[in-house]
Amino acid sequence: MAIGMEYLLDWIFPRYCCICGEFLSTHKFKYLCKSCSEKIILTGAHICEKCGHDFGEISAEAPSRCLRCLNSEFQFIALRSAVRLNYVTRRLIHQLKYKYGKHLAGDFVRIMQKNIPFMTLLEGGILVPVPLHWKRVFKREYNQSEVIASYLRKFSANVEVLPLLKRVRHTPPQVGLHIRERRGNVKNAFGINSKIKINHDRKLIIFDDVFTTGSTINECCKELRRHGFYNIYAATFTQTSKN
Ligand SMILES: [Zn+2]
Ligand SMILES: [Zn+2]
Repeated sequence: MAIGMEYLLDWIFPRYCCICGEFLSTHKFKYLCKSCSEKIILTGAHICEKCGHDFGEISAEAPSRCLRCLNSEFQFIALRSAVRLNYVTRRLIHQLKYKYGKHLAGDFVRIMQKNIPFMTLLEGGILVPVPLHWKRVFKREYNQSEVIASYLRKFSANVEVLPLLKRVRHTPPQVGLHIRERRGNVKNAFGINSKIKINHDRKLIIFDDVFTTGSTINECCKELRRHGFYNIYAATFTQTSKN
């Protein structure tokens, strides 16, 4: 778009930072100001080889696996998250999920693209968004994981998106539940979408906004494995650091 046109559009439809409310002039993010975007921290070099948990800036050698992975039997080969969870990324997720924040999807992708190892994991893969039950989609009008995944496909030539899973059971939100309750809550909640026929050795990447205890993503893995898919990875925008 011509620069002059962009200024005109900004004048007619002013944009504000979705975190601090500052008025935005042209900037590389559409709904994030410079100061808020600089507070976003990409996951670093010291991460858990299994779930991507970020150990932070540690001087000693990082362990290869985090506590969460030593105590769980995750069915995916590896999971990676693009950014650390902090005040800004938590607010971004909240705005996306609960404030009709579909328009923020482009900025989510612009942030994720800065994390090269994360983007490399997606290369050549099929993103499988964690499905929501239709009742929740009806309430929110969209599935946030599906919206971000579609944007990722738009910006990355070598990524596909397929709704290979469907939610077969409506479950209460996971928020506030203990890990054991979370597991029970999502047990058998997913089914395979048998209309989609793809080769079983394709690289699948279960895609979600946040990785917490892993119950939901693990349940998705189990359903895919039940149907003969084993080349399964997972990717999320961010993850909780409870470890
Ligand atoms: Zn801001
Ligand atoms: Zn881990």
